[in-house]
Amino acid sequence: MAIEPLVDTYGRVHRDLRISVTDRCNFRCQYCMPAEGMEWMPREELLTFEEIEQVARVLVERYGIDSIRLTGGEPTIRAKLPVLISKLAALDVDLSITTNGATLASQAQLLKDAGLKRINISIDSFDRQRFIDLTRRDDLHRVLEGIDAAVAAGFEPVKLNAVMMQGINSDELLDFARFGREKGVQVRFIEFMPLDAEGKWSNDTVVSQAEIIETINAEFPLEPIERTSAPATRYRYVDGKGEIGVVASVSDSFCGTCDRVRLTADGQFRNCLFAVDEFDLRTLVRSGASDDAIAAKLDEAVKAKWAGHQIGQVTFIRPKRSMSQIGG
Ligand code: SAM
Ligand code: SF4
Repeated sequence: MAIEPLVDTYGRVHRDLRISVTDRCNFRCQYCMPAEGMEWMPREELLTFEEIEQVARVLVERYGIDSIRLTGGEPTIRAKLPVLISKLAALDVDLSITTNGATLASQAQLLKDAGLKRINISIDSFDRQRFIDLTRRDDLHRVLEGIDAAVAAGFEPVKLNAVMMQGINSDELLDFARFGREKGVQVRFIEFMPLDAEGKWSNDTVVSQAEIIETINAEFPLEPIERTSAPATRYRYVDGKGEIGVVASVSDSFCGTCDRVRLTADGQFRNCLFAVDEFDLRTLVRSGASDDAIAAKLDEAVKAKWAGHQIGQVTFIRPKRSMSQIGG
């Protein structure tokens, strides 16, 4: 069957799928989940590996999706994750994961052997007490071990995701740059987005792309790398010691070139991280729907995609679900 690209009404072609495999997490990051009272999805509501595989296969075979990232919640705590990885690796896509890294010391090699190609590890501070305050877990040492394990398993490049927040960890920008240069890992600085469970986000809490680049460039000169459709704006160190990226979702939104769609752990299809409407694939898949019926629903959902989020404007509507439930 010929591949037809998944195009929305603004002409954007979609190639990138994010799959949340669980809403559960072993951390409780302040900007992502409340400290208490989070109700996990009942297990029977989560898509099974076979159900995830069917949706992913339709997206790859019919619409040419060529990149899949597993996320959550914390994807590495979903039981038997390597089984799902080997199913998705068989679709011959650029298969990656975003993880908090805390279990990688024991899992990195297993994930690599199952067919995982790339890995992003989230870390927002190198200071133990600050890490505890941010994640509500005393696991900095585990995450650092996890980074080493990912490098040792041969993931190339290993990327670190750091959400920068004004007055919270913005004084660590240069520590991140130094760490990345010394370890040979790529740091991606992410602007804080209004998807925090506790609603603490305001424009003043965002560390902008301009501030990030200015601070690092003053110590370690940078030069821009030509932009692709990927959300990160990339820069290389002039002295050749690697590169960094900035995901400026707030100050320099990349909605105009967005090529991403999302599947939540409970089988809801989202055409945008900030979407307020979802498309119920779980009911469809569980009714024994054909690939044609699933493909038609996916097409309908992408056609309904808006031009972009409106963070910072009065028209912006905060999605009902927090980042951990949508899948970051
Ligand atoms: N548990 C995994 C992790 O932490 O990497 C995967 C899920 S997490 C929701 C995915 C990414 O979203 C992480 O890099 C996290 O830092 C980021 N994130 C969570 N809440 C955010 C927010 N409000 N603004 C920006 N990034 C956020
Ligand atoms: Fe868990 Fe990741 Fe959210 Fe932190 S950012 S609470 S590690 S899902």
